[in-house]
Amino acid sequence: MKSAEIRQAFLDYFARQGHAVVASSSLVPENDPTLLFTNAGMNQFKDVFLGRDKRDYSRATSSQRCVRAGGKHNDLENVGYTARHHTFFEMLGNFSFGDYFKRDAIRFAWEFLTGELGLPPEKLWVTVHVSDDEAADIWLKEMGVSADRFSRLDEDNFWQMGDTGPCGPSSEIFYDHGVDVPGGPPGSEDGELDRYIEIWNLVFMQYDRQDDGELKPLPKPSVDTGMGLERIAAVQQGVHSNYEIDLFQALLQAAARATGRDDLENKSLRVIADHIRSASFLITDGVVPSNEGRGYVLRRIIRRALRHGHQLGQEKPFFHTLVAALVEQMGDAYPELRREQARVEKALLAEEEQFGRTLAAGMKVLEAAMADLQGDELPGRVVFALYDTHGFPPDLTADVARERGLSVDMDGFDQEMQAQRERARGAGAFANDYSDRLNIEAVTDFSGYEKHQDQAEVEGLYRD
Ligand code: ATP
Ligand code: MG
Ligand code: MG
Ligand code: MG
Repeated sequence: MKSAEIRQAFLDYFARQGHAVVASSSLVPENDPTLLFTNAGMNQFKDVFLGRDKRDYSRATSSQRCVRAGGKHNDLENVGYTARHHTFFEMLGNFSFGDYFKRDAIRFAWEFLTGELGLPPEKLWVTVHVSDDEAADIWLKEMGVSADRFSRLDEDNFWQMGDTGPCGPSSEIFYDHGVDVPGGPPGSEDGELDRYIEIWNLVFMQYDRQDDGELKPLPKPSVDTGMGLERIAAVQQGVHSNYEIDLFQALLQAAARATGRDDLENKSLRVIADHIRSASFLITDGVVPSNEGRGYVLRRIIRRALRHGHQLGQEKPFFHTLVAALVEQMGDAYPELRREQARVEKALLAEEEQFGRTLAAGMKVLEAAMADLQGDELPGRVVFALYDTHGFPPDLTADVARERGLSVDMDGFDQEMQAQRERARGAGAFANDYSDRLNIEAVTDFSGYEKHQDQAEVEGLYRD
């Protein structure tokens, strides 16, 4: 089954179970200033779950475009390193707004996987929350899941919207890609490796957490589920990595052609194939590369892709030429992408031309600094100089450093930024010349550096 067919089979199955098929919402959340980008199918239904919004359906299904490249959910650093993470992916979901609960949610998921898709039950592994006897009984006694492939976990299986409000236990379904792949079952020491890959997450919204921490039962519990299309496509197509599925193979071939390569397993090609999706869809949804907020996250994604292109020996603009292949793969499911193709290409080309002027020079500086390095940490002043003079976002520098087994001194970088801010203040009337840089600093949403993130997620949005 092709990815597009799986997407359709999912929506059709849930439509038959009485769900309204709802279109994907934009990657830019409409009514939620606390969220950087749409990162789950449930985002567009948040107010329905909270009871603030009413719809004329109580069950819905969708295939939601998601980006996890900043803020609380950030998978940017995982791209190219795991078989299962993207910056952009599609989340298939079914939702119950005070309608059905655990029994049906579990039954639908099991029936879809083992019935519709025909997956062998012995390849699946299920987890529930330690406290959730109800879900455990449904899985073990009603669905007949083997106790050998079942576990109760704690933090991984509890979901909450915020410090207060709707929350509840969850249940996750994993696929065992087999003994050839290193990794242990969920919850084990090697559980984060890619042998057992999480495919579907069912959330049972059951409580309303009060200010004092008390879990008050919700009068009408709800269900929110999410399954990564690329992950289930990998399972269905008998491959381990998401990058081996039909959709990614097409993008990888386009990226290989554009950079004159033929090794489709090359990590840089994978990063480029991943990033063309997030960059193109973000631009489609109205994000413009810039020096602040969402636009800066987009710019970082694009520059990272260009750096990987450079690594493959590509000196000329190439990234924008991949949009056509993406439209071919995804334009039917997302007509807005096809509509915006020319605009997306133009925006990417402009970024390529702009960054292309300093990328090569910056890489030379970075190579020299790494060659001269004593120890295994790149000093903050190098990270800053690359950023300030060559437009290297710090996470891009960190990405290069990581490939050489080096880390970067982010505290040192922060100090340099601080010093620059003071210099700018001292410059008084000339401070305007620095406004661009000051805005970048205000965002400081450097992926991978958790301490910055929550703050950046919100601040970055209020800056304009
Ligand atoms: P993981 O533990 O593998 O990082 P997760 O628990 O963070 O996944 P959820 O937030 O539960 O993921 O999202 C629901 C589903 O969306 C996951 O079960 C997975 O199939 C898919 N998914 C999540 N993050 C990504 C990603 N970065 N790229 C591709 N698919 C993803
Ligand atoms: Mg995750
Ligand atoms: Mg998980
Ligand atoms: Mg999960």
